Amino acid sequence: MIKCDVLVIGGGPAGLMAAKHAAMQGANVLLLEAKGSFGLKPCGEGVSSACLEAAEVKPSSDVVVEKIRGFEVYAPDETRRVRLVSEGEVQGYIIDKRRFLQRLAEAAQDRGAEVKVEANVVDVRLAQDGVSVDVRTPTGKVEVNAKLAIGCEGYTSIVARKYFDREGYELIPCVQYRMRNVELPHNDVLMFYVGSKVAPGGYAWIFPRGDKIANVGLGVRRGGPATSYLEAFVKRRGDVLGKAEVIELGAAAVPVGGMLKHIVADGLMLCGDSAGQVIPLTGGGIHSSLAAGRIGGEVAGRKALENDVSAKALGEYPARYEEPWGSRIRRSLKALKVIDSLSDDDLNLLAGAVNGEDVVNIANGWDLVKVAAKLMKHPTLALKVARKLF
Ligand SMILES: Cc1cc2nc3c(=O)[nH]c(=O)nc-3n(C[C@H](O)[C@H](O)[C@H](O)COP(=O)(O)OP(=O)(O)OC[C@H]3O[C@@H](n4cnc5c(N)ncnc54)[C@H](O)[C@@H]3O)c2cc1C
Repeated sequence: MIKCDVLVIGGGPAGLMAAKHAAMQGANVLLLEAKGSFGLKPCGEGVSSACLEAAEVKPSSDVVVEKIRGFEVYAPDETRRVRLVSEGEVQGYIIDKRRFLQRLAEAAQDRGAEVKVEANVVDVRLAQDGVSVDVRTPTGKVEVNAKLAIGCEGYTSIVARKYFDREGYELIPCVQYRMRNVELPHNDVLMFYVGSKVAPGGYAWIFPRGDKIANVGLGVRRGGPATSYLEAFVKRRGDVLGKAEVIELGAAAVPVGGMLKHIVADGLMLCGDSAGQVIPLTGGGIHSSLAAGRIGGEVAGRKALENDVSAKALGEYPARYEEPWGSRIRRSLKALKVIDSLSDDDLNLLAGAVNGEDVVNIANGWDLVKVAAKLMKHPTLALKVARKLF
């Protein structure tokens, strides 16, 4: 049997950050990752510059595969688009997520955390003196006892399903191709497509990865399997994807229903996708998961050393996460519900009424009131969008 102060389950952005920050408090930390390496789940790999800063990972050429200066969102009629591209400053990056997570793992180990791969947690139990888990490894079954466990296993989280109320937890199925021979008009612009024909209740994306390679994917919330929409999307975008070939294919889900009401319990915490800490309208969750891991890990490490892992003591983590992240997730969820209620005609209208900054505000749950005030001047959008955003 292995013993530790803080057990982190899952080596994604949330878990690796949590392990690092718990270890920085001086706690004895063990992180268990089911797979043989990090970052095998498909991902668009798009992050803001602020996200890399938060991760404390330098935007070096091995981690960054493309620098991003802006985006284009295409309306359902595809003749209208909203564009925001900065001439100079880099706004974000497409990262090699596997290398990025490897850097985070090294940083956690440098701070003293023990990181084990091929360690699949198959059961979690609350014990009298903490938490006990069963782990399947290539050499057999192992039991780990910890004062406290942080569930960072993503949307399949055992900890969340067994010990937390997941009411409202909604998953959007996504599929993604990595394609080569993609003929992009710009290498530094993210492309998004919305509408009921492209991706009902979700959106499609083309994210450049350099050397004519791109991540091409979509998520749908209704209307049939995501794969058939992706096949149709590739055919529709013959201008960009006509000569492209699939070199990788992956499917996974993103939790877009907002954050769970409770993300701590006696001896337990949730960070990242397991807690629903994703910006609902964009489905982006790397930055919000890193932020959760940082605060959660720090609180977990300190409280484990103080021998107080009660829900009350661990409550410092959700309290500190609330601003800016918790409230931002709630506002973006509100915006998602409003956008989701619009027809393709309404979305075409909206594309003609907003600019790139408004799109950034709506998608990220930032200044919704500013966008709503602008749309109040528009007869149809005032009723269908602006009033609901206020
Ligand atoms: C198709 C797709 C595209 C996306 N694109 C973007 C994007 O461009 N930008 C962005 O910001 N976000 C994106 N996201 C969302 C982002 O990937 C997640 O929000 C983020 O990775 C969540 O981090 P996490 O650490 O909570 O979970 P995860 O990244 O899911 O990591 C969980 C880890 O736990 C491990 N694990 C699971 N169960 C166990 C177990 N029982 N025992 C041990 N280990 C276990 C898994 O193997 C995995 O490594 C995308 C998601 C999808 C599906």
